[in-house]
Amino acid sequence: MFKEGLYMLSKRLLEELNLQIKYELYSAHYYLAMAAYCASEDLSGFENFFKVQAEEEKFHAMKFFDFVNEMDGKVKILGLEEPQNDFESVTDVFKKTLEHEKFVTSRIYKLMDIATEEREHATISLLKWFVDEQIEEENSMKTILTRLERMGENSHGLYMLDQELAQRVFTPPAGSGN
Ligand code: MG
Repeated sequence: MFKEGLYMLSKRLLEELNLQIKYELYSAHYYLAMAAYCASEDLSGFENFFKVQAEEEKFHAMKFFDFVNEMDGKVKILGLEEPQNDFESVTDVFKKTLEHEKFVTSRIYKLMDIATEEREHATISLLKWFVDEQIEEENSMKTILTRLERMGENSHGLYMLDQELAQRVFTPPAGSGN
């Protein structure tokens, strides 16, 4: 396809990148709803974990935001739907989290397919970082879910895990560039 400038994103890719900004912001939204649920269950460590996760999602959104601008595209902020706010248990929360991260991974793969088809190398480079990031996201959620399922939410195990998750602090992911 003919391109006027070296850094011009196709209309399709620009739309998909803007949609991805929305999904990353929605992830932050969703994780805040989970933080609120955990707070209501007096699990302040879990609450902290999801607050930090929401920060990370906002960071992801801003990474796409800055990229679109650098590529001379126009960012469009789209509306967010209300996320699920009520959950059966923290195990249920982590099941939903893993499901959601799998959806995000499928989105990153879709973007990668389009960028590859269009041979848009700058976008491919950005997306490689996200492919690796998604492996980490899915793995960390899976690890916690497995622990919850193993201990069956017995109060001692839950207390220990809550203490552990209270330690999490937000640090911009390694090799993030921006
Ligand atoms: Mg994300």
